[in-house]
Amino acid sequence: MKTALVLGGGGFIGGHIISRLKKDGYWVRAADIKMPEFNISDADEFFQVDLREQESVRKVLNKKFDEVYQLAADMGGAGYINTGNYDADVMNNSALINLFVANEAHKQKCKKIFFSSSACVYNEHLQSTTVSPDCREDSAYPAFPDSEYGWEKLFSERLLHAYNRQHGMSNKVARFHNIFGEYGTWSGGKEKSPAAICRKIALANDGDEIEIWGDGLQTRSFLHIDDCIEGIMRLMAHDTFHGPVNIGSDYMISINELVDIVSEIAGKSLVKRHVPGPQGVRGRNSNNELIERELGWKPTRDLVKGLTATYTWINQQIEKQNEASNIIRHTNFR
Ligand code: NAD
Repeated sequence: MKTALVLGGGGFIGGHIISRLKKDGYWVRAADIKMPEFNISDADEFFQVDLREQESVRKVLNKKFDEVYQLAADMGGAGYINTGNYDADVMNNSALINLFVANEAHKQKCKKIFFSSSACVYNEHLQSTTVSPDCREDSAYPAFPDSEYGWEKLFSERLLHAYNRQHGMSNKVARFHNIFGEYGTWSGGKEKSPAAICRKIALANDGDEIEIWGDGLQTRSFLHIDDCIEGIMRLMAHDTFHGPVNIGSDYMISINELVDIVSEIAGKSLVKRHVPGPQGVRGRNSNNELIERELGWKPTRDLVKGLTATYTWINQQIEKQNEASNIIRHTNFR
């Protein structure tokens, strides 16, 4: 039986990777600073540890795994990574995790290490208009990411590259572009735009106003988690192709369009109020030439279907929260 370690296994993408690995017959150990928030992990073992501590990383990486998936990071949407308020934490926390993980995985001679990088590594100057942003993999250099989060990802990509050059460690690197779906963070400040928009719309009444950061003309592409997992698995299974490679959708829309799609799914007619807020680059889209050529992968899930599943799930989470707070109110009243 193949063995896998999923770091960040209490999070959104890590949780989905674990479920897929279990379906594929792996034995899985997960590690995260928190337990999964919305479900019970499918992992065989779950270590709740802080991976910024070398001892904890040693504890979870105390044997040779066939595959290591490194998804643990201090991350969030534009409200977290594009405000400047958390930059030191983001860089320090994620870099520490990656430094310790790379070294311990090398010492254990783990066969394959997957690293979750980001579209945020791309050069800000090539994404300065809403149309035709250039996010081909080789456009990352000369480097000028628009956030410290992106710089840390680039540093950690290079760190793994260095382990490969010096020690022959086999790494696989994917640059994710806005992955969304069920069981993702949807509130609290670290949520990304699809989840934030689903939440705002779920909470609004028909005819209400909802706040949108910026003029809403900024463009992005969004990939449902199911397609993302398939891309990761194909990358891990490939003998000779290691990336870095984009895993994203190449169907680019504006944030205003995203709001319109989700409003229609919800059956609500809403007024957009554009307010100042962190936005990141003006336009971003996944360039999928490389992944199509090397892995024969392209997104299969229709955006509206993916957003419908996500909206429905977030709406249910809100209803559950409301029910729970009603029970508390009644209990207190008695
Ligand atoms: P997530 O926040 O749900 O998952 C990250 C997990 O890392 C969380 O469960 C968190 O608790 C854990 N973590 C953070 N600090 C830790 C620590 N000190 N010790 C142990 N665990 C710690 O986010 P996600 O969307 O699942 O992202 C997974 C990876 O993919 C991250 O590396 C992220 O940067 C990258 N990524 C995600 C997207 C996206 O659109 N979701 C885009 C680009 C890159």
